[in-house]
Amino acid sequence: MDLKSLIRDIPDFPKPGILFRDITTLLRDPQGLSYTIDSLAEKCAEMSADYVVGMESRGFIFGAPLAYKMGIGFIPVRKPGKLPGAVHFAEYELEYGVDRLEMHRDAMTSGSRVLIVDDLIATGGTAVATAKLLEQAGCELVGFAFIIELQALGGREKLPDVPIVTLVEY
Ligand code: 5GP
Repeated sequence: MDLKSLIRDIPDFPKPGILFRDITTLLRDPQGLSYTIDSLAEKCAEMSADYVVGMESRGFIFGAPLAYKMGIGFIPVRKPGKLPGAVHFAEYELEYGVDRLEMHRDAMTSGSRVLIVDDLIATGGTAVATAKLLEQAGCELVGFAFIIELQALGGREKLPDVPIVTLVEY
């Protein structure tokens, strides 16, 4: 299936000069959505993950159905101040500024095998910060999955040396 044809380009969002890859047009397409989740599940099966970790907020949209499809649990990584329990935190640089991510300290037992999922990798800052959260939790990172990779931004080179699954590259 041609997923690229379901992803819409929005110029100058959220800032002038940025070409935003909009996945809402993919999400609303029933075949596109099921193909996306089924493809990720198939490509990630051999990682033998115990949990999918997804980052707020588009990582939630794909991560939860992927976890369901794989028959494993989903753990949210959130923006500051949203999680009610004690958290691990890591700072990260986005394409558009600096922020931090948080994960519940008791989200998973140490040694769990974890797959990180987000809609898109650009500079890799968000994914690297999430990997740091897993390190703090004593978990084993077994792979990354992204619908979209923006190759020119070189995010892949910053990630730890584990399998990286992507479905669409620009
Ligand atoms: P990075 O941290 O790799 O530079 O940026 C990736 C994060 O920013 C992801 O969480 C992703 O949702 C968001 N992001 C950055 N650019 C885009 C874009 O063009 N389209 C979408 N859908 N998300 C983006």
